Amino acid sequence: MDVLVLGGGLMGTAAAYFLARRGVRVTVLERNRVGSGATVASFGNVRRTGRYLPQLPLAHRSRALWGEAQAMLGRDVEFRVTGHLRLIFEEDALADMRGFAEAARPWGLDLEELGPNEVRARFPGLGPNAIGASFSPQDGCGNPRLIAPAFADAATRLGATIVEGCLAGPIETTGSGFRVQTSKGAFEAEALLNTAGAWGARVAAQFGEDVPITARGPQMGVTEPLPHRVLPVVGIWTRRPGTDCYFRQVERGNIVFGGAAERTQVDLDPGQAKADPARLPGQLRALLRLIPALADATVIRTWSGCEGYLADMLPVMGPSATTPGLFHAFGFSGSGFQLGPGVGDVMAELIATGGVADIPLADFRIDRFASVPAAASTAAS
Ligand SMILES: Cc1cc2nc3c(=O)[nH]c(=O)nc-3n(C[C@H](O)[C@H](O)[C@H](O)COP(=O)(O)OP(=O)(O)OC[C@H]3O[C@@H](n4cnc5c(N)ncnc54)[C@H](O)[C@@H]3O)c2cc1C
Repeated sequence: MDVLVLGGGLMGTAAAYFLARRGVRVTVLERNRVGSGATVASFGNVRRTGRYLPQLPLAHRSRALWGEAQAMLGRDVEFRVTGHLRLIFEEDALADMRGFAEAARPWGLDLEELGPNEVRARFPGLGPNAIGASFSPQDGCGNPRLIAPAFADAATRLGATIVEGCLAGPIETTGSGFRVQTSKGAFEAEALLNTAGAWGARVAAQFGEDVPITARGPQMGVTEPLPHRVLPVVGIWTRRPGTDCYFRQVERGNIVFGGAAERTQVDLDPGQAKADPARLPGQLRALLRLIPALADATVIRTWSGCEGYLADMLPVMGPSATTPGLFHAFGFSGSGFQLGPGVGDVMAELIATGGVADIPLADFRIDRFASVPAAASTAAS
C-alpha cells in the first residue's frame, strides 16, 4: 500500500512515521519546510487538563508516545514531565475545576486539587492571591521546533519520502487512488491523508466536504533568560476573558507565555500570522497575576502562527465521508500539539487497517457539522 500525506506539520510527519513503521510506502508533500506551520509556533504544552472529555483516550495515547519520543525518534525533543499547574482565583473557577476533575476521573485523568497554602508551599512565587489550583503531575511540555523534524527524519530512516518546497494543487481520483498536482510534478498513491492544518478544509472541499474553519493566530511572547525557578507549565482556571494566560520557563531560562488576548484573524493566503503589539500589555497584566516577579522582565520577541479553528473547537479526524481512500486530520483548534503523536499513530492505524482504530473518533467525523450543534470545549493551554 502507498499513501500521500498532504501537509508536513506535526500531524503529517507523525502519521508518516507511524505509517512507515507499519511498512506502508509514504510520501509527505510540504509546501515549505516540515513543521513550519502552526507546529513551530506552538507554546509546547503537553496538557490534558480542560480537554473535551471524549478526546482523552486519544490524549492519553499521545501522552504515552511523548514519553517514548526520545527512544523512538533517536533524538531529544525536549519532552519534560514538569507537571501542569492551573491556578484558581475565583469561586466559580474553583467549581469549574472540581466539576472537570470529577468528570475526567472515569476517563483516566487524575487531577490533584491544591489549597492556597499548598500552592504557596509547593510553588512559591506563583499566584500569591490564588485560592487553589489543579495539578496534573504527568503532563509537561515539548519543544515545538524539534518535534516535526524529528518525526520526519525518523520516518525517512524507515523509508518514507519527504518532499519539501512542494505546493500541492488540484487533486483527482484515479482508478487506483489519487493524483496530486504539485509545484514539483504529479504524485500518485492509493490513499491520501489530508494533514494540511488550517488549509485542510480547502483540500476537503475538493471532495465535496464543507467544513466551517477559520484561520486564527494565537499570540505568544518570550522574555529574556532569567534564573531558572519555575518547573511546571502554569495556566489558570477562569471564566473571565482577558485573564486566561499561561506560561512556562524553558531550560535556558526564558519565560514563554500566551493566552489572555483575542486571536488575530489570518488570511490563508499567504497564511502568515502576525503578533499584534497592542495585545501585549493585556497579556502581561494577566501574566503578572500568575507570576508577579516578572514585573521588570523584558519581552524580547512576540510571534503567532496560523491555526485552523473549527466551529466546535474539535478537529476533523477520520475517513472522508465522500471518497474511499481519503482520510483527514486537520483543524486542531489550538490544542493539537499534545495530541500530535497520538494523531499520527491513530491515523496510521486507521489507514493501514482500512478503517479500524481502537480510539473513539466519532465526535471528530467530518460530516458532523450538518447535524450536530457546537460542543463545549476548552482550548486554552
Ligand atoms: C501560537 C500557537 C500556540 C499553540 N500552542 C499549543 C499548545 O501549547 N498546546 C497544544 O496542544 N497545541 C497548541 N497549538 C496548536 C498546535 O500547534 C496545532 O494544533 C498543531 O501544531 C497543528 O499541527 P498540524 O500538523 O495539523 O498543522 P501545521 O503545523 O500547520 O501543518 C500543516 C502543514 O500543511 C502544509 N500545507 C498546507 N497546504 C498545503 C499545500 N497545498 N501543499 C503542501 N503543503 C501544504 C503547511 O505548510 C503546514 O506545514 C498552538 C498553535 C499556535 C498557532
